[in-house]
Amino acid sequence: MSVSRLNLGGVSIPSASLTHPLLDGLNPQQREAVVHHGSPLLIVAGAGSGKTRVLTHRIAYLLAERDTRPQEILAITFTNKAAKEMRERVDRLIGPRSASMWVMTFHSACVRILRREASRLGFPSGFSIYDQADSQRLMAMVCREMDLDPKRYPPRSFSAQVSNFKNELIDYETAADRASTHMERTLAEAYRNYQQRLTEAGAMDFDDLIMLTVTLLQIFPDVAEHYRRRWRHVLVDEYQDTNHAQYTLIRELVGTPELRTADGDLVREGSAGIAPAELCVVGDADQSIYAFRGATIRNILEFERDYPNARTILLEQNYRSTQTILTAANAVISRNENRKPKNLWSDQGAGSKIVGYVADDEHDEAMFVAQEVDRLADEEGVTPGQVAVFYRTNAASRVFEETFIRTGLPYKVVGGVRFYERKEVRDLLAYLRVLANPGDVVSLRRILNVPKRGIGDRAEAMMEAFAARERVPFVEALRRADEAPGMATRSVNAIKEFVALLDDLVAKAGDTPPSILAQEVLVRTGYRAELENSEDPQDEGRLENLDELISVASEFEEASPEGTLVEFLEQVSLVADADQIPEADGGQGVVTLMTLHTAKGLEFPVVFLTAMEDGVFPHMRSMGEPKELEEERRLAYVGITRAERRLYLSRAAVRSSWGAPSFNPASRFVAEIPSELVDWRSDPRKNAWTAATARRDPSRTAPAKRAGGRQIPSLKPGDRVTHDQYGLGTVVSVDGDKAKIDFGSGGAKTLVLAYAPLEKL
Ligand code: ATP
Ligand code: MG
Repeated sequence: MSVSRLNLGGVSIPSASLTHPLLDGLNPQQREAVVHHGSPLLIVAGAGSGKTRVLTHRIAYLLAERDTRPQEILAITFTNKAAKEMRERVDRLIGPRSASMWVMTFHSACVRILRREASRLGFPSGFSIYDQADSQRLMAMVCREMDLDPKRYPPRSFSAQVSNFKNELIDYETAADRASTHMERTLAEAYRNYQQRLTEAGAMDFDDLIMLTVTLLQIFPDVAEHYRRRWRHVLVDEYQDTNHAQYTLIRELVGTPELRTADGDLVREGSAGIAPAELCVVGDADQSIYAFRGATIRNILEFERDYPNARTILLEQNYRSTQTILTAANAVISRNENRKPKNLWSDQGAGSKIVGYVADDEHDEAMFVAQEVDRLADEEGVTPGQVAVFYRTNAASRVFEETFIRTGLPYKVVGGVRFYERKEVRDLLAYLRVLANPGDVVSLRRILNVPKRGIGDRAEAMMEAFAARERVPFVEALRRADEAPGMATRSVNAIKEFVALLDDLVAKAGDTPPSILAQEVLVRTGYRAELENSEDPQDEGRLENLDELISVASEFEEASPEGTLVEFLEQVSLVADADQIPEADGGQGVVTLMTLHTAKGLEFPVVFLTAMEDGVFPHMRSMGEPKELEEERRLAYVGITRAERRLYLSRAAVRSSWGAPSFNPASRFVAEIPSELVDWRSDPRKNAWTAATARRDPSRTAPAKRAGGRQIPSLKPGDRVTHDQYGLGTVVSVDGDKAKIDFGSGGAKTLVLAYAPLEKL
């Protein structure tokens, strides 16, 4: 290993000899990264090589040794939980100094900037934040207003495409300019209307948080200057998953030096008078798993082009996993093309072999996992908290949950139908959001008749029409309900009462803690009484969820006694899946169940990768598409590299998907792992036949309805169908439970009928 030289204040010293307590426990490359100063720094390295650890130590070092003040540091992490951990570690390293430092996700950082500057963009500082479900509802409203046939122009697809535009920083005007087909023009118009409705509602969607912050920095030089002066250090973890908008945001925040050609022609203006901040990004192109959200590996591959004076440091030693696990991971990822080869190694020895298991069906698979966890506990002292079970899609958690409940294994599902997505929780939050921002029309319409107070769909539609005609906000239209022609007196009275209630609550909202306000809402609207008097057993659970939300609010009040309602809502809006990962509590802990996407950045002594089947993982939709298949392979790489000591790979010979059986072959990713690394606990060649005949269970194999009660369509070539995401298509061919469908400009896709959100026309 060559010892590179560092330049510290003009004195060049061999980095390996650097000593400082903060550099203890770091290898020479890691040390270099911690002490590097000046030019932008890129740390590219494989999984488990200490990238996140380097960031943490670098922050501590900046504070302890380089006269950096905490408020001069902005560190971006992938989740709020990761942010919290990083802050705690920094405090542990150098004492409690992290409070005024910004360590947070892109979204949280943007919200904080926007709260201060929102008025410049024409938003109230208490603007609402719409999550995906809210923005889909709003888009559906817009499409209805435009009289678009939802079969031809699915609102969800429009939502997704608008999100893509925003990730690329394309505003609706540009989208309209670029539109060449009728479909594209319609989309651009919907985008414009949608954006208008958001502005009227004083709301931003998730993608706006980033895009509008970029806009803010670009059109108000004084704002950009303020933040550039403030942050002298910008650090970004999981850099491979930043999308174009986030990338631009970083560039705007860091500032750029003036750039001229050799002839002295100006290529790019510098950021007036302020030296660019020091930028340090860490990532692994092999772990980029968010291409579908607009993340581009380009950001990492071309970092050096964008920052010509950047320094790159490679880390090659993995401290997380055994050599067996690493060899498997390296073997799988090496099948991807266009990647820089990496040489990741571990000095932890070979360790245990990977265990492979082919279950008869998914119940057998779950049982296998439960029994193995028990066995590991008995024989190796493994606690449930050291175990994670990963799967490709959220729905897969159900069978594991059922089995774990039956066998008494404590567990927690991360993600899935999340707490904040439950109807009653959303209802109460909608009330609070309206109290914080009465212009928030999506929330307002959500609660208009919840609980039922005699304001029916017809009355709502008339109010909507009235608001449009009078060009007033929806809430204003409600106030003037009696002026709207044709409204039934009963509806007008109901609306008046509702508005009076809101006014009353809004008046209190300013100086009432959110938890008290929430309780008041539940009582005064009759929401609580309705649930309490209900015969439906599920309503008891709903009450518990509402109480849980109230305790979330109380916790918030304890943590930030000065906190406002707006701040509380903001915290709630920005909760991500990964934030629910159980804390290690020193006890036995619980098994963690989560999707592979959520597992990024985490590590567990024991990992089960389940449903390793072609069609499940890799996902059916990726199989004909080389690019998507590569992304799935990166996901496999992420999954495998989460394991420290033991890795299990399992699949089911037969799996029922929405009730219908599917016989999936083994995942190609398993075949890519050298066979000598795997110890099979069952016949690896076990196929669908033997299992199906051994275990056929008519109740599970009967052609059935899909979730949501939709019938699986029976199709023949030539049939016209509509797909929730891809829109209108024509069936090209049918093969058993799959069909190939041509979606015109969307291309041809092979879909599993039992899964696909597809309707025959
Ligand atoms: P990922 O790509 O999965 O995000 P990473 O590169 O961020 O991984 P870390 O999570 O920082 O890696 O480190 C992986 C594990 O190795 C952690 O438990 C960390 O504490 C440990 N580790 C990192 N560097 C060293 C080191 N020099 N000595 C001992 N342990 C280390
Ligand atoms: Mg990491």
